[in-house]
Amino acid sequence: MSDCLFCKIAAGEIPAEIVYEDDDVIAFNDISPQAPVHILLVPKKHIASTEYLDESNTDLIGKLVLAASKKAKKLNLDGYRLVMNCNEIAGQSVFHIHCHLLAGRPMLWPPG
Ligand code: AMP
Ligand code: ZN
Repeated sequence: MSDCLFCKIAAGEIPAEIVYEDDDVIAFNDISPQAPVHILLVPKKHIASTEYLDESNTDLIGKLVLAASKKAKKLNLDGYRLVMNCNEIAGQSVFHIHCHLLAGRPMLWPPG
């Protein structure tokens, strides 16, 4: 999608601190980190939010979560939180699906 920030990062048109990339997924440090580790895992395919997922996306979302799991292992994280915000009321501000990998500090539950 031409005016989408994360499509532009995935295409290399906007710089980001990329920490992982394969054919389907790109991961980069969040520009405004909310924890010592705050990585965004983003499918290269544009999907606006989890609201638009269907069965055709099963593999892609599996790959996204697996990439997060592998990254966490590589960083030797002893615990972490994966978050996907859907729609503004839940805190979504970029409308291209992404998974936050947050770690490095205690996490509260329930979240705010
Ligand atoms: P969300 O609020 O769940 O949609 O998450 C969007 C995230 O993207 C926020 O945590 C922002 O800090 C982050 N973000 C926005 N612009 C950039 C950027 N240019 N590079 C990296 N992260 C960004
Ligand atoms: Zn996009």
